[in-house]
Amino acid sequence: MAQSFQQSFLPVLERISEEIEALAGRGRPADYIPALAAVDPNRFGMAVAELDGTVYGVGEWQQPFSTQSVTKVFTLALALSREGEELWEHVGREPSGNPFNSLVQLEYEHGIPRNPFINAGALVVTDRLHRLTGDASGSLRDFLRAESANPDLDFDRDVAASETAHGDRNAALAHFMASYGNITTPVPTLLREYFRQCAIEASCADLAVATGFLARHGIRADGSRLLTRSQAKQVNAVMMTCGTYDAAGDFAYRVGLPGKSGVGGAIIAVVPGRCTLCVWSPGLDDRGNSVAGVAALDRFTTITGLSVF
Ligand code: GLN
Repeated sequence: MAQSFQQSFLPVLERISEEIEALAGRGRPADYIPALAAVDPNRFGMAVAELDGTVYGVGEWQQPFSTQSVTKVFTLALALSREGEELWEHVGREPSGNPFNSLVQLEYEHGIPRNPFINAGALVVTDRLHRLTGDASGSLRDFLRAESANPDLDFDRDVAASETAHGDRNAALAHFMASYGNITTPVPTLLREYFRQCAIEASCADLAVATGFLARHGIRADGSRLLTRSQAKQVNAVMMTCGTYDAAGDFAYRVGLPGKSGVGGAIIAVVPGRCTLCVWSPGLDDRGNSVAGVAALDRFTTITGLSVF
């Protein structure tokens, strides 16, 4: 049977790519750093990876871009695989209902961020991973290289430097959580690690393939196990409820899949037991999610009937 799945969604992707042209010009690229603000918002690529790692796509599906918060999924998986349940003593798993870079909940929740996919939560996860590995961003890069089978995948050093130069909000989040004892890595080191992870460059093909372990219930590309079946379910569940920030309800309603967006314009999504997707288009809505990206995933699940519901 596996053979008949090869490239089975390509006609669907081609149809979506044509339909998405009508959304050209919608949304604006992230403008908090020059490297992202300069990207043409009309660019578009989309890839599907089958469970065996076969990948195909439409548009600019092999074009590298800034992955940004999409990497929060992989650091969560790496930290969870090493630390297990104890991780959840340091970060919650409830939707925040607030913008991704918000500070407001941290004071009345004693420095415990709502979930791993807002910036505060991702800083905590990076802190945990850095404690456990001594090299959070390197562990992440090595993992992504292995899972995507792309040995050239790397940080964009200009983007990392630019993130650092415009990093006051993330620095404030880290210092505030450190004041509650929920960050233990020295804040400058933690920020360096976090900005490097945001600055990873990868394509839709890379990310769709690298996300495969979540569709394979925790099994890595080489057949070894990263997460227990239950942990893979947990990561997918947190993606579903928190992966698109304060638009997670709308994303679940429209797309019906675990997904994670980044302000570079990418979104990854998982059809557990079936395939993984990555779509990229840099025009963002006011919550920081790709306008064409959400629309393309909406069309994918509508046309194919594949969702977790
Ligand atoms: N680098 C961005 C930040 O930390 C990532 C945010 C995002 O992609 N939502 O603000």
